[in-house]
Amino acid sequence: MAAGADEVVVAVAADMVETARTALHGLPNITLVEGGATRSGSVRAALAAVPPHRQDRPVLIHDAARPFLSRDHVSQALGALAQADGAILALPLADTLKRQADGVLETPSREGLWRAQTPQAFAHDRLSAAYAVWPGDQEPTDDAQVMTAAGGAVAICPGDPLLFKLTYPEDFAMAERLASGARLVRTGQGFDAHRWGPGDAVWLCGVRIDHDQTLIGHSDADAGLHALTDALLGAIGAGDIGEHFPPSDPQWRGASSDQFLAHAAQLVRSRGGEIINVDVTLICERPKIRPHRDAMRARLAEILGLPEDRISVKATTTEGMGFTGRQEGLAAQALATVETPR
Ligand code: MG
Repeated sequence: MAAGADEVVVAVAADMVETARTALHGLPNITLVEGGATRSGSVRAALAAVPPHRQDRPVLIHDAARPFLSRDHVSQALGALAQADGAILALPLADTLKRQADGVLETPSREGLWRAQTPQAFAHDRLSAAYAVWPGDQEPTDDAQVMTAAGGAVAICPGDPLLFKLTYPEDFAMAERLASGARLVRTGQGFDAHRWGPGDAVWLCGVRIDHDQTLIGHSDADAGLHALTDALLGAIGAGDIGEHFPPSDPQWRGASSDQFLAHAAQLVRSRGGEIINVDVTLICERPKIRPHRDAMRARLAEILGLPEDRISVKATTTEGMGFTGRQEGLAAQALATVETPR
């Protein structure tokens, strides 16, 4: 998604569909399909699942076992596709080759040999047509092979050692080391305050609490959700809540603030980010927050699509001092920690 594909079809083994659904939760424009018994069976299933209105656009086939795909890799493959029926990323061989045959050690030439990687890019209709004529009793090792067998020309563009395929235990160990360096932990903070006015209930952290006053605001005045929305926006440098939902816009009059928070969480995820944890502090003399704290955590977990142990709601008074102490208004502050691609 962050690599520039706006529609992603993921082929997974039948018994992994639910695991994949959980892992991909919150990412936009994902279609899950059941894969085949072989790699090519999975590619065929995924090609068939591309929506008809997208089939006039190039399709990129990528192995999920190569997790360090970047926007540059995608642009490179698409750029090379302009002059051919297909384009692949591939690396020249750096090591000397050896072949052991009948106890004799040979040194074959590495001239003209490449290590093929993914993504591999094709026009959707050209690749579908190539698969249609590929013999059903043979298994191709990649999609470029299917395209060349059908008479198509496939261009090679420079691959990247980072696109290595996770195969052996040591590959996973290296991937973990790289992944920790490829991610950035960022924090954002938010603050909000609303004035008390006549009413019979107040919304705080997405929970309605019966009270002898309400908070006054353009939306539902849920200061907890507003502070937390700003914290998430802050963590990814995406402006503030007033920019995304201007108070001058009548459509937000009386709006339920959970949609502001959901929007901010969606923005984090659309940038390949993950919310690590959030922490909200409500500052007021009344109402008592403690009895509602579990309901608030549950509601925030629901809006953010996170487990409750990543969510904290706390409350404090200011011991009668200041505007919260004089009960002119309620304030909230929030902190959010997210992890994003570097
Ligand atoms: Mg507000």
